[in-house]
Amino acid sequence: MSHSNYTRETFDQVMVPNYSPQNMIPVKGQGSRVWDQEGREYIDFTGGIAVNVLGHCHPELVNTLKEQSEQLWHLSNVYTNEPALKLASQLTQNTFAERVFFANSGAEANEAAFKLARRYAFNHYGAEKNEIIAFNQAFHGRTLFTVSVGGQQKYREGFEPVPGGITHLPFNDLAALEAAISDKTCAVVMEPIQGEGGIITGDPEFIKGARALCDKHNALLVFDEVQTGVGRVGELYAYMDTEVIPDILTTAKALGGGFPVGAMLTTEAIAASFTIGTHGSTYGGNPLACAVASKVLELVNDRALLDGVKRKRERFVAKLEAINAEHQIFTEIRGKGLLIGAALNQTWQGKAAKFLAAAREHNTMILVAGPNVLRMAPSLIIDDQDIDEGMEGLAKAVAQVVTAGPDA
Ligand SMILES: *Cc1c(COP(=O)(O)O)cnc(C)c1O
Repeated sequence: MSHSNYTRETFDQVMVPNYSPQNMIPVKGQGSRVWDQEGREYIDFTGGIAVNVLGHCHPELVNTLKEQSEQLWHLSNVYTNEPALKLASQLTQNTFAERVFFANSGAEANEAAFKLARRYAFNHYGAEKNEIIAFNQAFHGRTLFTVSVGGQQKYREGFEPVPGGITHLPFNDLAALEAAISDKTCAVVMEPIQGEGGIITGDPEFIKGARALCDKHNALLVFDEVQTGVGRVGELYAYMDTEVIPDILTTAKALGGGFPVGAMLTTEAIAASFTIGTHGSTYGGNPLACAVASKVLELVNDRALLDGVKRKRERFVAKLEAINAEHQIFTEIRGKGLLIGAALNQTWQGKAAKFLAAAREHNTMILVAGPNVLRMAPSLIIDDQDIDEGMEGLAKAVAQVVTAGPDA
């Protein structure tokens, strides 16, 4: 029980109204369980939107944060620091990348990626080569450049004029990409699995074809792995499952396991275009963030943990299929690893939020990915008992929503 005077009503009195949070206020988390102000317990299948890869308050992360907090908090990039150098070394040792730029969020990592792609093309081919090709429904963040590259018109509306030189194409349509790409294209940007857009997996042939077209036109292939990265799909990064290596990769969300941090990874040759003074961030590479992220990477980049992600997915999918066998609400279960999307059928189009609210009433926290898809992105180390208990809550929620009917 918490004795705070702050309630959900306070939110409406003091916060900008761009969010509409659930009615309960969580006050404590441990592993895959969360408690609210009234002491009610919830099973957390949201992972803080694919962030808390090691659950809440993992003891090793708590220790790392405590230790670093007594050493050094912040310096700025006028100096470098050991946690940042260690994290960058881990990232380069375990991926295609040779160079790392640190930011504080996914949007900032993408902002750096898009600016670098433009700058690289500018340096090597001239100012004309500035077109960025991206995909419908894609999500890359909420800064003006990232909403512009993102493929959801509603996130740009009313914020115009937005940056130009960006083309949007249907995702997984190689013919459309082949028709649109040209020597003016500096980058093709994609999520290997579209997250916010509805958990839509990039077709292996499409991803390979995009790589070949980028090579042909001297365009950089940028993978936004902000949601798919750091073990989420059962590999350290999703590209590792695709036979394709990007030129630039962005990572955030899970990287800090709940501590804000983002990074852009690339090769030495491409990184060279970010010469001294071309880009920067006050907090980027902050020692607290990097110390925690370094521990996250050490714990997650472990074959047994990653294989566990694939096994746990099977348990989730089996439970979702059992719910569907009883209630016929899903057309398919999508995604990879513990990035799970359950697509609602015709009867339930536009009703995903109903299931989210009902699940919460039955003590299970889930997410949606757009109006038609239920999404789960739990801790990668969630145990079987928590999966079963959370799924029981979801099953009750589905029964309740189905009994009330789609128009309730
Ligand atoms: C969440 C997300 C972002 C934005 O990350 P922020 O940390 O919210 O800025 C960018 N790209 C993808 C694929 C995401 O899922």
